[in-house]
Amino acid sequence: MQRYLWQQADGARHAYDTEQGEPELGRPLATLCGATVVPRTQDYVPGMWLDPTCEACEDALVVVAGWSAEEMAVLRGHRDRRVSGAQ
Ligand SMILES: [Zn+2]
Repeated sequence: MQRYLWQQADGARHAYDTEQGEPELGRPLATLCGATVVPRTQDYVPGMWLDPTCEACEDALVVVAGWSAEEMAVLRGHRDRRVSGAQ
C-alpha cells in the first residue's frame, strides 16, 4: 500500500499519510496541507470525486516524495494550464 493517498473531503481532494490513520466517515482526518477535514457520505461515492485538488497537499506530497525542482516545475506548468482552461 502506498504511504500517501488522496481523500476528498470538505470541498477538495486532500492527501494524507496512511501512517497517521485512515479516512473514516464523519471522523476528522489530518491532511498533508495541515487542514483537518471530515469525509462525508458524498465523498465516498465512486466516480464522484469532482472537487478540486488541494494544491497545498499536492505541494506537500511532492516534497515528501522527494521530487526534484525540475519535476515540481512540470507539475506547476500543468497546474497553470489547468487554471487557464487550456489543455
Ligand atoms: Zn490539503
